[in-house]
Amino acid sequence: MGLLALGTPLEWEDAKHHADEVRKLGIQQLLEIWKNYRGNERDVLLWGDELEYLVVSYDEEKKHALLSLRQAEILEELANDEKLRKAGGGVPEISKPEDVCGPMPTFHPEYGRFQIESTPGAPFNLTWKDLLSVEKDMKRRRVIAKQHMAKNEAVITLPNFPLLGAKDVFTHPPVVADGSRSRSQFLSDVVINPHIRFPTLSANIRSRRGKKVAINMPIFYDEKTPRPFRDPTIDYDRHLFPEDDDVRNGAAQEGHIYMDAMGFGMGCCCLQITLQAKNIVEARMLYDQLCPLGPIMLALTAATPIFKGFLADVDVRWNVISQAVDDRTDEEKGLKPLKNNRFVIPKSRYDSVSAYISQDPRFRPEYNDTDLVIDKDIKKTLMDDGMDENLAAHFAHLFIRDPLVIFQETLDESPEGKADHFENLQSTNWQHMRFKPPPPGGNIGWRVEFRSMEIQLTDNENAAFAIFIVLLTRAILSYGLNFYIPISKVDENMATAHRRGAVLTEKFWFRKNLFPPRKPTNGGTPAPSRPASPGPVEREYCLMTIDEIMNGSKTNEFVGLIPLIENYLDTVNVDVVTRCELAGYLSLVSKRASGELQTGAAWIREFVRAHPDYRGDSVVSQSINYDLIKALDRLGNGDGVLDEQLCGRLLGGSRA
Ligand code: ADP
Ligand code: MG
Ligand code: MG
Ligand code: MG
Ligand code: MG
Ligand code: MG
Repeated sequence: MGLLALGTPLEWEDAKHHADEVRKLGIQQLLEIWKNYRGNERDVLLWGDELEYLVVSYDEEKKHALLSLRQAEILEELANDEKLRKAGGGVPEISKPEDVCGPMPTFHPEYGRFQIESTPGAPFNLTWKDLLSVEKDMKRRRVIAKQHMAKNEAVITLPNFPLLGAKDVFTHPPVVADGSRSRSQFLSDVVINPHIRFPTLSANIRSRRGKKVAINMPIFYDEKTPRPFRDPTIDYDRHLFPEDDDVRNGAAQEGHIYMDAMGFGMGCCCLQITLQAKNIVEARMLYDQLCPLGPIMLALTAATPIFKGFLADVDVRWNVISQAVDDRTDEEKGLKPLKNNRFVIPKSRYDSVSAYISQDPRFRPEYNDTDLVIDKDIKKTLMDDGMDENLAAHFAHLFIRDPLVIFQETLDESPEGKADHFENLQSTNWQHMRFKPPPPGGNIGWRVEFRSMEIQLTDNENAAFAIFIVLLTRAILSYGLNFYIPISKVDENMATAHRRGAVLTEKFWFRKNLFPPRKPTNGGTPAPSRPASPGPVEREYCLMTIDEIMNGSKTNEFVGLIPLIENYLDTVNVDVVTRCELAGYLSLVSKRASGELQTGAAWIREFVRAHPDYRGDSVVSQSINYDLIKALDRLGNGDGVLDEQLCGRLLGGSRA
């Protein structure tokens, strides 16, 4: 991560004067990395996941499920665990021999003081053995985490805690929302990871923006929800901070659940996959090819139907995070003429990708069909040093943003051989794909990160989606698949992915023919990778359901990604046992797409609406939350013996 350097962070009023300096140093560091590593060849195909957890704490007397704020203590316990500390790891005591998989996992802090992230102890490779160890590795991480937690605590894998920011008590210990960093009405600063970087990040986003972040998610109108819905939890009479005026000035929209702090977004949990490519060319190709899959996988992994104690009319977290870290000023949003800022910027720092980056001959300029806002001087600096236009534009786009947290000490140090200033901008551009250059000085190669997926309720699902992405990249490479559609269509798909039930009811733009043009059969010269006259771009894609995209469509003569992957598996040497296990994972993904199985979002919404305490008014009460979290705890941390009623529609027969 490399983010947790200690030091003296600058408040925004100081930091903003150093923005140009940091960008300059960051570009210098990027060029050094690019020059040193652009020639890398034959890096191994490695990959790894990141799982983010919520730590819950039960009050069994009151029947409350709360967020535990003991992240630091739990991480410290984990850090002091001898077995975990030893490089390469050992065999954890909890393992039966058949459970033993690779090195001991690692645990990391996250934004929320109630969150923990886990990654495998070392990246996985592409052997079948490694692929089949993924779910075991994920399950082992939970067990190890649990060993370092209190008896009444558990990790659950749910994107958003249903009562986060609700009027009811939702943390243990209870805390009051009166902090000066977020200035939120709903979230105390105490729920932020206390490492100085995180409160500073929250405060500087607010200061830069000139008001609090404003997050509005549509309410799910149930039978008895008041119409129009006006978020009843908002205090319009608070006069603690100047930002309390935000709600009096219309920050909260009618018909919406209103949230006002970074923690509502960065307190959400994702499932991320990082893949190392053999060289920079392949990494750029995978970045582009996986990009159109982002919204599809967001809708397919939907697991976030509740915010701040209310059922929402969306199923996913993405836009909440997007709005929660949106540091754009009114000038940058185009609401006022540019005076103090440099650009009008159409998107938040956390948003879908705005441009493809590969030099792939299959790329057509028409695919980058939105006006990419770039820093022209930075693009020129990069190109003057030999970087090609596409890649230079990518970084010149990321660098339109300001660095949000600057540690005074880092400005006085030599920037050489490091990536801290580069990472300052890179890692606060949270797009749905991330192109990760090698960290200087190591032997890690060019990687791409797939970032849109929601964390799943069980590791069976987490493994299934991780393995799906990994196998899909193998099919992409093996068949030369082409997923390009105009990037504006990816943006549209991202919005579509938010609609309640999108996975079954919406259609998404997708490329019709994924295959390269046929090669001549006479063994002669290969066909040009792009036909001489490719025709209008609009003919290349159409609207399809996720079922059609995943499972194929006769009407569109579309093969479907699952059949494609199965086909790929047929062509490689897989033993029967492996093939069966992989088929189980692919079946889960396939059935989610067809509707035979429910998304986590659909399952949770149904659970709430069927709960005896639910009044049909969209409100998720303390008692409903308790039963829900208990059920998720049993699902995620159970021993696999789960009653059909609890998980039949979620996991079907595919669970291990
Ligand atoms: P970040 O938070 O910056 O996205 P993390 O370090 O938390 O990154 O996680 C990155 C993931 O990448 C982990 O699963 C890790 O195992 C995996 N990983 C580490 N090194 C490599 C590598 N060389 N190639 C591919 N994946 C890697
Ligand atoms: Mg990270
Ligand atoms: Mg991480
Ligand atoms: Mg993380
Ligand atoms: Mg997070
Ligand atoms: Mg990550």
